[in-house]
Amino acid sequence: MKLIEGTKIFKKSEIEEAAKLLQQGRLVAFPTETVYGLGANALDKAAVKSIFTAKGRPSDNPLIVHIAEQKELKSLVKRKLTEDVRELITNFWPGPLTIVLKKDDKVPAVTTGGLETIAVRMPQHPLALELIKAAQLPIAAPSANLSGKPSPTLFEHVIDDLVGKIDGVLAGGQAGIGVESTVVDLSREKPVLLRPGGVTYEELSEILGEVKIDPTVETKLVNDDQRAISPGMKYKHYSPQAEVILVEGRVEEIPIKIKELISENSDLKVGVMATNEFSDYYKGVTIKEMGSRSNLAEISTNIFKLLREFDAEGVDKIIVEGLPIKGLGLAIMNRLRKSAAYQIIEV
Ligand code: AMP
Ligand code: MG
Repeated sequence: MKLIEGTKIFKKSEIEEAAKLLQQGRLVAFPTETVYGLGANALDKAAVKSIFTAKGRPSDNPLIVHIAEQKELKSLVKRKLTEDVRELITNFWPGPLTIVLKKDDKVPAVTTGGLETIAVRMPQHPLALELIKAAQLPIAAPSANLSGKPSPTLFEHVIDDLVGKIDGVLAGGQAGIGVESTVVDLSREKPVLLRPGGVTYEELSEILGEVKIDPTVETKLVNDDQRAISPGMKYKHYSPQAEVILVEGRVEEIPIKIKELISENSDLKVGVMATNEFSDYYKGVTIKEMGSRSNLAEISTNIFKLLREFDAEGVDKIIVEGLPIKGLGLAIMNRLRKSAAYQIIEV
C-alpha cells in the first residue's frame, strides 16, 4: 500500500484493508462504471458528515447509497417493493440506475439530505462490488471530486481533488460510462426522471410506461417545489476554472458559429471541445476531440476528463459543440449545460 499526503492508495489485492477503513467510519474513494465515488458507511452519521466536509458539499444535497446485492434494498426502504421497482432492478442492476424510494427509519437524515426518501444503486464495476461486499455495509457515495468541479473519471482526478482530505482511494482505471447514474424517483404516484445518466430515458420508459421528466433536467429554472424533490439540482455543477460556452442547435450551423466565436475571442486562450467530425475545421485554438457524433458512449466517457485537461493547460474559455438530445445525449447535454452555467448559444 502506498501513501500520498496521508491518503492510503489501495490496489485490487488490498480491498480487504480498504473495506476495514469503511467499517471504521473512514472515507474511501473507489472506481465505479459511472464516475469515481467517495464512500462511507451510509448508516454512520459521523462518517457521512465527513463526506460533506471533504467535498465541500452543501448538506442538503442527498447522497446515493450503494449496495452489492439486490436483497439489501429491502432493509433500506420503508415499503414493500412494487412490481415497477422489481422490474427495474431485474433489467438494470447492477448498473447505472439509481432508484429513489421512501426510506427506512434506520437511514440517518444526513445521508438523505434531510429527505424522507433514499436513493439506492447497485454499481456494476467489479472493484466497487467487491469493496462493498467486503465492507458488508451500505455505502453512501457521491462523486469523488470537490463539490462544483467536473466529476472524476480517472484515479488521478480523485488524487488532484481529494488527496490529504480522505483516508483512502482504491485505484482503478478509467470510469467507462463517464457520466453519473440515471436517478428515477419511484416514491411518488408516477415515476419521475430526476437526473439523466447511463440508463437512457427511452430504456426506462420501455419498462415503466410514462415517465415524467423533472423540469430541472432540461432547464435552469428551479422553483422551490423542485428544490424539495431533488436538492442537488440547484447547485453549481461540473464547472472547470475556465468559462464554458455551449453552442446548440442545427448541426451544420454549430461549427460556423464556433468559428465566429473563436475570432471574437482572439485576445483569450480559447479551447474547443469538438466532435471528430468537425475538429479539423477550427484553427489557432486548443482543440480536444470528445468523440464521434455517431458514438455518444465515447463522448460521455470523455467530457469531464477534457474539461479538466483544458484547465490544466490554462485555457480561459472553452467552447463546446452541442449534441442531439436523445439516448445518452440527454445525459451528456444535461452535464454540458450545467458546466456552461447555462451560457448557451442557439443556432
Ligand atoms: P451525486 O452524488 O453528486 O452524483 O448526486 C446525487 C444525485 O442524486 C443528486 O442529484 C441528488 O439530488 C440525487 N438524490 C440523491 N438522493 C435523493 C433523494 N432521496 N431524492 C431525490 N434525489 C436524490
Ligand atoms: Mg457529484
